[in-house]
Amino acid sequence: MKPGLPFAKRVNLALNDQQLQAALQKAAGKFDRARASAWGELDDVQEVRRHARAIKAHTIAHLDEYLAQLAKQVRAAGGVVHFAADVAEARTIITTIIQNAGHDLAVKSKSMTSEEIGLNDALAAAGIQAVETDLGEWIVQLAGDAPSHIVAPAIHKSRQQVVELFSEATGQDLADADIPTLTAVARQELRRQFLAAGVGISGVNFAVAETGTLVTVTNEGNGRLVTSVPPIHIALMGMEKVIPTLDDLMALLELLPRSATGQTITSYVQMVTGPRRAGEVDGPEALHLVILDGGRSDILGTEFEESLYCLRCGACLNTCPVYRVLGGHAYGGVYSGPIGAVQTPLLPGAVDHADLPQASTLCGACKDVCPVQIDLPRMLLALRRQGAEGTPHTAQWSERAVFKAYGLVMRHPNLYQMALKVGRVGSKPFVKDGRIQNGPGPLKGWTEHRDLPPLADEPFQMKKENE
Ligand code: SF4
Repeated sequence: MKPGLPFAKRVNLALNDQQLQAALQKAAGKFDRARASAWGELDDVQEVRRHARAIKAHTIAHLDEYLAQLAKQVRAAGGVVHFAADVAEARTIITTIIQNAGHDLAVKSKSMTSEEIGLNDALAAAGIQAVETDLGEWIVQLAGDAPSHIVAPAIHKSRQQVVELFSEATGQDLADADIPTLTAVARQELRRQFLAAGVGISGVNFAVAETGTLVTVTNEGNGRLVTSVPPIHIALMGMEKVIPTLDDLMALLELLPRSATGQTITSYVQMVTGPRRAGEVDGPEALHLVILDGGRSDILGTEFEESLYCLRCGACLNTCPVYRVLGGHAYGGVYSGPIGAVQTPLLPGAVDHADLPQASTLCGACKDVCPVQIDLPRMLLALRRQGAEGTPHTAQWSERAVFKAYGLVMRHPNLYQMALKVGRVGSKPFVKDGRIQNGPGPLKGWTEHRDLPPLADEPFQMKKENE
């Protein structure tokens, strides 16, 4: 999907993409069912969720203290810590580390924060090649595309599309290749890159303040190779990823894999504390931790603060009836689904984000499945309210005018009666087979897909008065 398209256009493209519709229904539904089943294995999942939420709430309320402790412990373990105020600074820090070390090839494991800062483009502009090594991320990179799901970046791609991409990238005829064959092709291609790269760049799922340990939770072995084979490891995290203790890590690990993929535990839970020490046989010579603010401190202390509790599990995407028909690209930002509809308008640099809080039915399913009980519907409503009030997220003037008029009519019974009479007469030309069809203006889209009955000749209220 082309960047810069208006939200309504992105939505229409997604709705008309049959292959996307089929892929989303299959994959998101599967993840959602797996989560429900994995939650069911816990004795008291609600208690586990309450505890997880309490950990995140406590950490975010004392974020400055835990970030300071994390930085101290990472440095004590031999790492270098960089604080980046914004995405531009994060890009500069990472580019400079690589350039100063004289490298021009970096391998990457999955990191949504690196997507957030547009790292690959920044590195390319500096003459550094970044190769994605997560299978889904590599597919997306070969396609010149963007991830469309937090956990499953290539959820929108079919096997046939992957066959074409891999055939082109490797020069092999893979027309008859099944999925294990395609995975083996990726393994073979990427293994060379791990050995050649001077730098490995990873994300961070959790950073433990008491030990300075960086934790990644993955299902592919690429994360281990990225963080241990190249001589330099750069880990990039949003500042909300810090947690106080290893005990807290254990509590959160009860929920993250279960909520993301329905697994009790992922194939790899990797814990990195500092670079290679004397006497160790593997690991990088240098470890750099880049901690990104990127607009997060502006969210602290606001009614949106709890959005920073997010574990990036993707459960709210998988269950959301809107995400399940639109996919991630229609949201126009790095983060999609309900959490994206909240965070994208709050983070700097988002384009055409004013409509995102409307991309929800407010059914509440996202809150029900969020492992840390983030009240996403409340925040979506708050963003809508801000949009209606005009600051800082501005709804279109026409929408504000409609709701102003609606409020006026509802407060004045005489106006209400008059509006009913006008509505009854005005809607008559559009009534066909007992329902309003092909309504004018904004009603057109609504009446195309919904059963809108005509206004009654004798409304209930008037009938009561006449009795
Ligand atoms: S908001 Fe909750 S459900 Fe959605 S990705 Fe974040 S932690 Fe997961």
